[in-house]
Amino acid sequence: MEYQSTRNDNIVVNSLEAVLMGLSPDGGLFLPKDFDKIKFDWQEVMGLPTVEMAAKIMGALLPEFEDMPGLCQKAYKGKFETEDLTPVVKAGKNRVAELFRGPTSAFKDVALSMLPQLICAAKKQLGKDEKTLILTATSGDTGKAALEGFHDIPGIGIIVFYPDGGVSQVQRLQMVTQEGANVKVCAIRGNFDDAQTGVKNVFAKAEAEKVFEGTGIALSSANSINIGRLAPQLTYYFKAYSDLLARGEIKAGEKLDFAVPTGNFGDILAGYFAKTLGLPVGKLICASNANNVLFDFLTTGHYDRKRPFIKTTSPSMDILVSSNLERMLYLACGDAARVAGWMKDLSEKGCYDVDEDTLSKLKETFFAAYASDETAAETIKKVFEKEGYLMDTHTAVAWNATEQYRTATGSDAPIAVLSTASPYKFPQAVLSAIAEKGEALPQDEFEMMERLSEKTGVAIPKNLAGLKSRKVLHTDCIEPGEIFNYVMQKSREI
Ligand SMILES: *Cc1c(COP(=O)(O)O)cnc(C)c1O
Repeated sequence: MEYQSTRNDNIVVNSLEAVLMGLSPDGGLFLPKDFDKIKFDWQEVMGLPTVEMAAKIMGALLPEFEDMPGLCQKAYKGKFETEDLTPVVKAGKNRVAELFRGPTSAFKDVALSMLPQLICAAKKQLGKDEKTLILTATSGDTGKAALEGFHDIPGIGIIVFYPDGGVSQVQRLQMVTQEGANVKVCAIRGNFDDAQTGVKNVFAKAEAEKVFEGTGIALSSANSINIGRLAPQLTYYFKAYSDLLARGEIKAGEKLDFAVPTGNFGDILAGYFAKTLGLPVGKLICASNANNVLFDFLTTGHYDRKRPFIKTTSPSMDILVSSNLERMLYLACGDAARVAGWMKDLSEKGCYDVDEDTLSKLKETFFAAYASDETAAETIKKVFEKEGYLMDTHTAVAWNATEQYRTATGSDAPIAVLSTASPYKFPQAVLSAIAEKGEALPQDEFEMMERLSEKTGVAIPKNLAGLKSRKVLHTDCIEPGEIFNYVMQKSREI
C-alpha cells in the first residue's frame, strides 16, 4: 500500500519503508495515500482475542508485512498483565479502557512492544542489514516503553532524551536503570519541546548533510510520528467496542464516544484511523491539561505555541507542539501544500490559522476540553469515593472532559475513557488527591506508593515496586544544543 508525505503527495513509499524511515524526508509524516479506500470489515474482528484482532487491523494498515500474526504474537504474548492486553472496566457512567497493563505500566507499551517487531521485519523483507539507530524524545512514558521494547534487539541501538526535572521520580528511575548494551539515556536541560525539537533537528541535519552515509547506520524514531507506532494503537478502540458489544452495553453499529488524554495527538488520531476503517466511533473527546493549545485550536482554528509551558501533574501531556495533528490536518483538508504552509508558519512564526472548512471538518469529530491540576485532583478523589475506581492524573483529565461533554451535549450514553497510565506511575499527585485534609504525606515516591496501596487496596504493579532496588546506569545530562553531537558520538558506541 502506498504511503505519502503530509506535505507532498509525490513522496510515496510502501508501509515497510514508512516504518523504517519514521519521518518523510521533507519533514512531513506518512499517511496511507487512499485511506478511505482501504477495505476493512470492522464486524469481522469483533469478539476476536485481542492479539488476533491486532493482527487483522495492522494487516490492513501495513499490508506489506508478511507475517503480521506471528509478529503480534512475539510482541504481546506473555508481556501484559492480562491476556486481553487492554481490559475495559465499568466506573459509573463511563467505561475505562485500561491501556496500562503492559511491562512499563503506561499505554505506550501497546505500541512500543510492537514497533521493534515491525522494524526488524521491515529490514529483513527489504534486505537491509544496516544498524537502526532509534532516537526518541520523551515526556516520561515513551522513553521507558521504548527502552523496554528495543533493548538487546540485534541490529538496533536506542538513545532516549528526557527533560531534566520534567518527569516523575518513578519515570526517571524506570529509564536510568535500564539495562542493555544497545541503550543510552540522557537528560536535557530544557522541557519536552526542547528535547523533541533537538531530535527533529538531528533527523533534518542527517538528511540534509548525509552525515550517516556510508556509516552503516540508519536513523529511525520511536515517537508517535512513526506509522508503526500509530498502527498498533487502533486495536484498543476496536477492543473496547467489542467488549461493550459483548456485554450488551451498546448495539452493533451504535456510535461509541471516546475520551482521550492527549499530548502529541497520537492516541486520539488512532481513534480517527479506527473510525476511518469503519468502526462506529462517535465523538473523539480531546482532553488537555493546562497546556491547552489543542483546546484553543479545535475551538478557534488558531494554533499558537507561543505561550508559557506549564509543568502539570499530568506531565505526559505537557506538550505545546502536537506533532500528529499534522496528519489530522491533512486528513481534514486533503491538501499537502496547505499543510506544508501551516507547518512552515508554525516553525517560523510559532502559529498558524486554518480555514473555516478545515476547522468545521475537525469539529465534526472532535470535542475539546481541558482541566487544571486542581480539577484533575478533585476528579480522582470524587471518582474514587463515588465509584470505587482509582485512576491516574492523565485519565482524570479525560474523565473530567467526559463531564464537560455530557454537560455540553446532554448525552447520557456510555463513554469509553482511555486510561493511559497506572495511578502508581504518579503516586505523589494521586496520593495527595485522595489524602485526608491535613494528612502528612511521605516524601519518597516509593513510600507514597505503599501508602496509596494501603488506602485503596489497589495492588502496586510489580515492575514499579521493584524499581527502588535497581542500579542507576545512566547519568548523562546535556544542553538541547548538544543533542546532535551527542548522537554522533554515541552512535559509534552502541
Ligand atoms: C503519551 C501519553 C499521553 C498522550 O498521548 P499522545 O499520543 O501523545 O497524545 C497521555 N497519557 C499518558 C500517560 C501518556 O504516557
